[in-house]
Amino acid sequence: MTSAGSSADTSVLVEGLLEIDAQFLQQTDSMEACFKAFDADRDGLMTPVDFAMLCRTLFRNQHGKAYTIEKKALDDMFSVFDINQDGYIDFQEFHLCWKHWIKPIVRPVSALIVIDVQNDFISGTLSLSNCPAQQNGIEVLKPINTMLETVPFERVFYSLDWHPDDHVSFIENVHLRKVHPSSKVSASEAMVYDTIIYEGPPINPVIVQKLWPRHCVQTSWGAELHPDVRVIENGVFIHKGTHPDIESYSAFWDNNKIMQTKLFDAMKENKITDLYVCGLAYDVCVGATASHSLEYGFRTVLIEDACRGVSMEDMGNTRQCLTDQLALVVTSSEVLDMVQGRDRRPELGYFRAMRLRPNGKSGGGCSPVASPRDEILQQQQQQQQHLS
Ligand SMILES: [Zn+2]
Repeated sequence: MTSAGSSADTSVLVEGLLEIDAQFLQQTDSMEACFKAFDADRDGLMTPVDFAMLCRTLFRNQHGKAYTIEKKALDDMFSVFDINQDGYIDFQEFHLCWKHWIKPIVRPVSALIVIDVQNDFISGTLSLSNCPAQQNGIEVLKPINTMLETVPFERVFYSLDWHPDDHVSFIENVHLRKVHPSSKVSASEAMVYDTIIYEGPPINPVIVQKLWPRHCVQTSWGAELHPDVRVIENGVFIHKGTHPDIESYSAFWDNNKIMQTKLFDAMKENKITDLYVCGLAYDVCVGATASHSLEYGFRTVLIEDACRGVSMEDMGNTRQCLTDQLALVVTSSEVLDMVQGRDRRPELGYFRAMRLRPNGKSGGGCSPVASPRDEILQQQQQQQQHLS
């Protein structure tokens, strides 16, 4: 069992291991060294106490101070990696832990998505300053540009709301479509922010649509990215809301999950583990994008000071809903240390571990990390049969 003295030594040793460059993490003997360092009594089995020590080393801020992790969270995570539930993490089980959990925690691959920082939302037809919360969209430029100048993101995405002139969300277009009898709002009485119900298709049987002023019409000035947003080399633009009859808040999917943008494929291609989300509007497109990111299993971080929204109440609800799904909310000044793996948050580690559970939710059909666990379980079962 772990003694106080050996714990301290272990901590120093493994902190050293984890601070070494990414190449070190690729080597299999590093995994063995890490396992041995935390298997305090060297019996090839990591106990819950050993695991707690590992977590103390893993989850630290940029000053080396360990984050406090509740016992229940430790138990939950231990149970994910103790695949055969015998009360220990053996070396075979540690493969999953090392490859799919420790590595992305220590060396995350991070992307930033800047949502809809377009002229219309700042000073155009759907200026946030005219919305109930009366916020000023221009204020996101400073934190966003500072991050783009200082944080080494693996990829930066810029989403653009990109509507055809006859888009279903424009209040000016209420007379273009047939209103469904179930709609509480008629075409002639409809006001901005009202929800109207049109007859389908393409969404059947009805299209439930919140109404906005005409905005971000393709190729118009209002749809352009604000000229003061820093655009980095190799930045990737994501256009959304391009179908006349389909509303699209999230940069991943439209609101009815009929059409997907290229964002998810680009995330996979670049092996992104963590998505940082910011921009406009907090309670609409930013929230929807973060929610889909969580659904896909990406560790998701909302940069709150780099967002502005429509309604205070909805912003509060969005925040609550995202944190309930294990998103992390931070300010832009915290991002650099997190991206560089110096500030390692337990909330994100917990989220990742929960996604490694056998039935870890894998919305959108993406289950990037479920199979290795099954493989290990299969090997264990085969060994068991062989022995009996
Ligand atoms: Zn729109």
